[in-house]
Amino acid sequence: MKDGIPLEIDVVEASASKIGSVDFDNLIFGNIFTDHMMVCDYVNGEWQAPSIQPYGPIQLEPSAKVFHYGQAIFEGMKAFKDDEDQVWLFRPEANFERFNRSSKRLAIPEFPKDMFFEGLETLLNLDREWIKKGFGNSLYIRPFVIATEPGVSASPSKTYKFMIICSPAKAYYSGEVRVVFAEKFSRAADGGVGYAKAAGNYGAQFYPTNLAKEEGFQQIVWTDANTHEYLEEAGTMNIFFRVGNKLITAPTSDRILDGVTRKSVITLAEEFNIPVEVRRVKVQEIVEAAEKGELKEIFGAGTAATINPVKGFGHAGKKFELPEQEDSYASFFKSKLMAIQYNKTEDKFGWRY
Ligand code: PMP
Repeated sequence: MKDGIPLEIDVVEASASKIGSVDFDNLIFGNIFTDHMMVCDYVNGEWQAPSIQPYGPIQLEPSAKVFHYGQAIFEGMKAFKDDEDQVWLFRPEANFERFNRSSKRLAIPEFPKDMFFEGLETLLNLDREWIKKGFGNSLYIRPFVIATEPGVSASPSKTYKFMIICSPAKAYYSGEVRVVFAEKFSRAADGGVGYAKAAGNYGAQFYPTNLAKEEGFQQIVWTDANTHEYLEEAGTMNIFFRVGNKLITAPTSDRILDGVTRKSVITLAEEFNIPVEVRRVKVQEIVEAAEKGELKEIFGAGTAATINPVKGFGHAGKKFELPEQEDSYASFFKSKLMAIQYNKTEDKFGWRY
């Protein structure tokens, strides 16, 4: 809306849909994209009129700043379809606000909210057949911005491209997840970009994560860069620890992503009288709790998997396995969140959109 008038979004429909060739029962996360994408360019100091186009390659100069200076940010959110074929987003305003927080940190011009939501709705309406009903099925939505100005001077780009692409997703099963607590490498520093979904935050994790995989761990739980004494978050998930019946998770900071799933879990825990402590979590206290048998669960919280239980962890050369939980908090929060996402229950907190 601009002055109460819906925006003109230019729509160029794909000449034929690819949907018939997609095996929806065997999707690999993030590998297939829907028929359309949203595109919006920033030139002359302004975001121009957005358009929806057939999904396809884009052309950039080799000198485009995104390739040299990593001036790029993104978001990740999901759409769900209920039994009546209605499509729902989960707390998308939180993603939109984080999108602009990330942009600001990377000196990228913020994106207008009306364009974001009208463009997204137009795109989802065009590609709604790609959103399949049924628990676990969803459409992963990836908005992002890249710096497009040609030139290899290390300064902010004067032009940008905003896009939204969408990928159908199945119930996320990543196999058994074991994590290692970081002792040497760091993900984020004080005053840095950890709280932003900056593209470079992810690329920088690949090498240490490969090393962790060689040791039999699928992911790293990052610790604070100064002392490595405090547990922070995983590569694409915030982390919760259950000691006895109490949940503990690190506070957000300029090193930690303010996860939408994380804050929803904290709200649900409060609602269901599960004691939850948001405070710094010492590596040592978790190791000691595991040794005493008091560490009941570790789980990750993030859009891709919703809740991802962790089977075991490693620290300082030692490996710990976590017990099977009958009354697992991970399963409890996952089912509560999914019931809201798929419109199976009342939406007390106003999270469905
Ligand atoms: N931490 C990091 C570093 C992430 O990339 C993500 C995924 N966005 C999360 C946590 C979880 O955030 P959310 O629940 O908003 O997906």
